[in-house]
Amino acid sequence: MDSKKVSDIRVACRRCDECGIRTGVKSEDDDLCILQCSLCGKEYPFYKSPPEDRPLPAMKEKGNMLSAHNTYDTIIVGGGPGGLSAGIYSMRAAMKTILIEKGAPGGQMAINKGIENYPGFIDINGFELSERFLQHAKWYGLEILQEEAMAIEPGIEFHSVRLANGRTLNAHAIILAPGGISRSLGVPGEAENLGRGVSYCATCDGCFFAGKPVAVVGGGDTALEEALYLSKIAAEVHLIHRREEFRAGRILQQRISMEPKIKVMPNTVVTNIISDGNGVSSIIVKNGREVESELHVEGIFIFVGFAPNRKLVPAGVKISAGGFVLTDETCESSISGIFAIGDLRQKYANQIVVAASDGCISALAAARCVEMRKAGFTSCKLAA
Ligand code: NAP
Repeated sequence: MDSKKVSDIRVACRRCDECGIRTGVKSEDDDLCILQCSLCGKEYPFYKSPPEDRPLPAMKEKGNMLSAHNTYDTIIVGGGPGGLSAGIYSMRAAMKTILIEKGAPGGQMAINKGIENYPGFIDINGFELSERFLQHAKWYGLEILQEEAMAIEPGIEFHSVRLANGRTLNAHAIILAPGGISRSLGVPGEAENLGRGVSYCATCDGCFFAGKPVAVVGGGDTALEEALYLSKIAAEVHLIHRREEFRAGRILQQRISMEPKIKVMPNTVVTNIISDGNGVSSIIVKNGREVESELHVEGIFIFVGFAPNRKLVPAGVKISAGGFVLTDETCESSISGIFAIGDLRQKYANQIVVAASDGCISALAAARCVEMRKAGFTSCKLAA
């Protein structure tokens, strides 16, 4: 087995020996990090420390404790900034709480290399901020179970969470914090070349393109941040945006304009991704005058927004036209006792600080809801 530091693994860009597809972090704790191929599922474990110094993974200890009980006041599904904040506030409210997370704590935040707008930190690595959230939640004794939640079943007295291992957990309140997944462009060559030049994560895959030309698609904060990151690695970065104006904040736009390796291509869309058999070799782009041309790039990084992860949202929960869960001001969905927070919830801004705020509000509201449901109320909705 390899013996590398977890921080080394993050930049190691491990590809699966079988499939050649990049691996993602399946699980991680204080000592052990498991990378997993997204195609065949093959796992690659890495330890932070030599065998003699390895403590038992804290999450596994917690998981074993679970056998004694299946019923909670509040169950949180998802361990990003929203879920972990909900865990902190729920524990402070003396709720019997469990947080279920199938991967590494921190979610999208953990793969963000530089966070410059979380209050109190001028610039902090996303992995480090995730660790701080996690340690804070653990300090309050939050029970964390590393397992996949498969379905949420609403009930009268309890709502239930069905787990991949076949078990079912019950709670008076459930807080859904499953985040979102990257949207795709839906152009020919995109799905076929995933992991072979097409990527949705510059931090994970950027190092494969050292000294090579790449394209970044999108005009939001993520696209501009990732273009700046890639400009430190790639030979040149073509930033392709379908409109004239960027959606991203001014400070990022200024930085983009000052980076000579970034060539901005406004009013341009990608229509095809071409492979030479080994991976991406070029893309076809169309400008505002409908003129198509071929652009030589070896990587294309797509950041055209996130789609909320609605897999666990039970039938009957009201959804917005954009696909987000509609909630009231306490983050409660249209089903009493089921809350939706972070990227899953319809709101103005998707920021870490907003997800953390959602976690606080939902946990406090859930605590009130738990007491009401225990007292026999079927609804804990706030009076209008
Ligand atoms: P976003 O703000 O929704 O931006 C998506 C971008 O992709 C938009 O420019 C959009 O173009 C473009 N787009 C969408 N569909 C497309 C398509 N089919 N073809 C080509 N382009 C397409 O998404 P995001 O950048 O991932 O950000 C998500 C949220 O996270 C935002 O609230 C953002 O502020 C936040 N965020 C914040 C930070 C930060 O503060 N440091 C960092 C990352 C993300 P149009 O503009 O024409 O619609």
